[in-house]
Amino acid sequence: VMFEDLSSKIESAVQSLKGQARITDVNIAETVREIRRALLDADVNLEVARRFTDEVKERVMGSDVLNSVNPGQQFTKIVYDEMVKILGEERSDIAVAHQPPTVILIAGLQGSGKTTFSAKLARYLKQENNRNPILAAADVYRPAAIDQLKTLAGEIDVPVYSIEQKDAVRVAKEAVSMAKSLALDTVIIDTAGRLHVDEKMMDEVAEIKSSVEPDEILFIVDAMTGQDAVNTAKAFNETIDFDGVVLTKMDGDTRGGAALSIRSVVEKPIKFMSTGEKLDALSPFYPDRLAQRILGMGDVVSLVEKAQQEYDEKQAKKLQEKITSDKFDLVDFYDQIQKIKKMGDISDLVGMIPGAGKAVEDADLSEDTFKPIEAIINSMTPEERHNPEILNGTRRRRIAKGSGTSVREINQLIKQFDQMKKMMKSMSKMGKMGQAMQGLK
Ligand code: GDP
Repeated sequence: VMFEDLSSKIESAVQSLKGQARITDVNIAETVREIRRALLDADVNLEVARRFTDEVKERVMGSDVLNSVNPGQQFTKIVYDEMVKILGEERSDIAVAHQPPTVILIAGLQGSGKTTFSAKLARYLKQENNRNPILAAADVYRPAAIDQLKTLAGEIDVPVYSIEQKDAVRVAKEAVSMAKSLALDTVIIDTAGRLHVDEKMMDEVAEIKSSVEPDEILFIVDAMTGQDAVNTAKAFNETIDFDGVVLTKMDGDTRGGAALSIRSVVEKPIKFMSTGEKLDALSPFYPDRLAQRILGMGDVVSLVEKAQQEYDEKQAKKLQEKITSDKFDLVDFYDQIQKIKKMGDISDLVGMIPGAGKAVEDADLSEDTFKPIEAIINSMTPEERHNPEILNGTRRRRIAKGSGTSVREINQLIKQFDQMKKMMKSMSKMGKMGQAMQGLK
């Protein structure tokens, strides 16, 4: 789970504050020190961590937290506010040209995830914003990079512009002309990266920049490289002056240092974060949502949005009708499980539910969780799936045998199914939010 270590350290710092009979400036100071240590352990830039905790302390002292009825919560709120601040406050979207095509230049070190991100961005813009992108293969030195881009683009049905010659500037220029003549509204240029930010890399990006005048330059950094990512971005920004940062590999074992430092150090917003190798593992970067996740407040908004992606309106409506008319059966239940599985890493999803973070770690929730349920449903007759109440003892024993489970598990499933049905029925009255959440029960 993202930022797990940092989350639990901050949580325990705040918890120890809550455990105090009286909150004084002495134990506030101790808690703030603990938070600073947690930030430094997470590889947050020293100066950023210092400023963060100074601000928190100042605000706590300046408020009436000490005398308030619920100092723990108030304290958490201040930490939350400061965290949103260092993550960049508001969501910062990428630019759109007044006159199409919008040209987006992608730069970063080799292996940072540039090519993957280029394709992800194309998919995202196509799917979420109804755009028609073209990808330009300007990473001309590695033939493998061009092939990789073509393969990824094939998956999402987006055209790629490439040429035989090793001339990145020409590729970029011609891709823009191509977009104009084909009336495509977006050009995404995947450039060459090197192992370090060196002059040659900067020169090439600078040259592409001056020849196609991109509307947006994004610098891609591997979040797992922590402060190296921050330093690289800083050096690159001093020469190229980019518009935003993309954090990749946030699904990896990242301590959080890059995400928490980069905005303050480089003074450029984080625009997207990438959380996996698959093309749909990309999210716009929302400082408030990430802060909520780090502080264990859950990220219900992202959760609901993700659930909604899986739910086109029609399906949701049909399901709604079934629920209200009591026709929801185990077949529908089975479908719901398939949808949940399609939503990707389950533990990641559940981590977004407030307060669920800890429970999930212990529960080891994975696709396997659903295996026995699927096996049980598969062993039933269509009639039984439709109306599980008709299952008698003999049938339950037989199904247990057929599915390699136990009668207890079957009883449990039927009980859960019953409860879920009731819950969904009451939730369906809550409207859209309810609809989205049903997929997760
Ligand atoms: P480039 O050299 O900068 O173009 O980097 P690539 O796009 O080729 O990515 C390098 C490696 O990182 C590839 O194996 C990608 O599949 C992988 N990768 C990219 N983004 C992510 C991510 O968000 N999470 C994970 N786990 N892997 C990623």
